[in-house]
Amino acid sequence: MGDVPGLRSPASGADRAPLIFDVIIAGCGPTGATLAAELRLHDVRVLVLEKETEPVSFVRIVGLHIRSLELMAMRGLLQRILQHGRRRPAGGFFAAIPTPAPKGLDSAYAYLLGIPQPVIVRLLEEHAIELGARVRRGCAVAGVEQDDEGVTVELADGQRLRSRYLVGCDGARSTVRKLLGVGFPGEPSRNDTLMGEMAVGVPQEEIAAKVSEISETSKRFWLRPAGVGVYSVVVPAAGVSDRAEPPTLEDFAQQLRAIAGTDFGVHSPRWLSRFGDATRLAERYRVGRVLLAGDAAHIHPPLGGQGLNLGVQDAFNLGWKLAAQIRGWAPKTLLDTYQAERHPVAEDVLDNTRAQMELTSTEPGPRAVRRLLTELMDFDEVNRYLIEKITAIGIRYDFGDGPDLQGRRLRDIDVKQGHLYGLLHRGRGLLLDRTERLTVGGWSDRVDYLADPTAALDAPCVLLRPDGYVAWIGDDQQNLDEYLSRWFGKPAN
Ligand SMILES: Cc1cc2nc3c(=O)[nH]c(=O)nc-3n(C[C@H](O)[C@H](O)[C@H](O)COP(=O)(O)OP(=O)(O)OC[C@H]3O[C@@H](n4cnc5c(N)ncnc54)[C@H](O)[C@@H]3O)c2cc1C
Repeated sequence: MGDVPGLRSPASGADRAPLIFDVIIAGCGPTGATLAAELRLHDVRVLVLEKETEPVSFVRIVGLHIRSLELMAMRGLLQRILQHGRRRPAGGFFAAIPTPAPKGLDSAYAYLLGIPQPVIVRLLEEHAIELGARVRRGCAVAGVEQDDEGVTVELADGQRLRSRYLVGCDGARSTVRKLLGVGFPGEPSRNDTLMGEMAVGVPQEEIAAKVSEISETSKRFWLRPAGVGVYSVVVPAAGVSDRAEPPTLEDFAQQLRAIAGTDFGVHSPRWLSRFGDATRLAERYRVGRVLLAGDAAHIHPPLGGQGLNLGVQDAFNLGWKLAAQIRGWAPKTLLDTYQAERHPVAEDVLDNTRAQMELTSTEPGPRAVRRLLTELMDFDEVNRYLIEKITAIGIRYDFGDGPDLQGRRLRDIDVKQGHLYGLLHRGRGLLLDRTERLTVGGWSDRVDYLADPTAALDAPCVLLRPDGYVAWIGDDQQNLDEYLSRWFGKPAN
């Protein structure tokens, strides 16, 4: 895309201005940046509007889970991301119960990649820009109107922009969601937590001894090294400072003294933040030409480290469908499958974090349940079930009757032409044909074809969607054509 005339056009007349962009994305967090890149794979003209002038420095995320790593591999991004993170074993996520991962997890990327959120956001944003997305910082979306042809987006400074679709990836307090009037029911935050990075004034050994003693009884407390002389600090926020105000170093010191009997001489904070454990899910993910994704659509406590992963996976689900709508080949109901597939996934994540919250309570009842669950996790099936849930490799979308693999993601496998995921970089569908009898015919502009890929594929033919989920399994051309129409619209010829 070239320069954007009209971006600074005056308010008057902009309502019917030419549609310079196909999609405007509000928010350049992990969800917005991922979605921008996915849309660019299909040449969709994308503008990302980000309220903040500078990227945020809060280090939140524990890591990328297996399904997100798979998606990054599918787009050729994983090698770049791996250079900035640290691989850790894929176990001990559920309520931080330290059971190691079961053997033989069904993935070529069966680990957790520890990587700070600001780093992953930067890499995703760079990737989107390399693919041609425009990112404008210091632009807060403040108003939205839609009509039959498009959406008018008003910025906080009064500028008005037009696009065919708008996606609100603008986080938990989403302006877009509020402007749409979409309900966000759930539970308010009951326990706020302070989190920050700061220097300490006592030796490491002294800290380590105290921390291990307190961790026995308090699950919402940690002091962990985060660089030379710097510690990441987490303490309950209860009773300190005003919720509406940013936390101060004294708030942290006060809480440390209350819990540990010492404030460890904390000083020189790098950043300080506060987060809650509210659990909420948007009633709808789409209102006409405006959609919601990521934290704008769902929030939950950070247990298990799933929020960013969930948002990135929303973006992979939505990207190719919205692109298909814009390119004009989307079947009528395709865009609505975004909500049909992703709303239940978010509902499930909300539920598992509710359960994990209960398990971190220090009350006798929940502690007894925790002990019991810890014992149960020694059973391979239980442990595997929970890990597949948290890492999102256990998801099966409801595509109707069919073999168990239909609706599930296909793991990366070696194929004669290299790695399966290496063939999905362009975000197109893919037919894996062991029979060498079938064809993608008039869909070849959207779906690639691979003959005789590998004997390791436990099915005659598999049709993959651009997000790597199995859309169809079989060996009959007529049946395949029905499914190609269902997911990829009318053939081109
Ligand atoms: C302490 C903590 C630890 C966490 N750990 C993990 C973890 O280990 N793993 C994990 O997967 N998740 C984790 N999360 C959750 C994760 O941080 C979020 O789920 C994730 O940031 C959501 O991404 P997003 O892009 O949807 O929203 P956000 O990251 O909130 O991004 C939204 C963007 O929109 C911008 N914006 C807001 N309003 C507007 C507007 N009106 N116009 C334009 N732009 C706007 C914001 O400035 C922001 O850049 C953690 C969260 C917390 C609080």
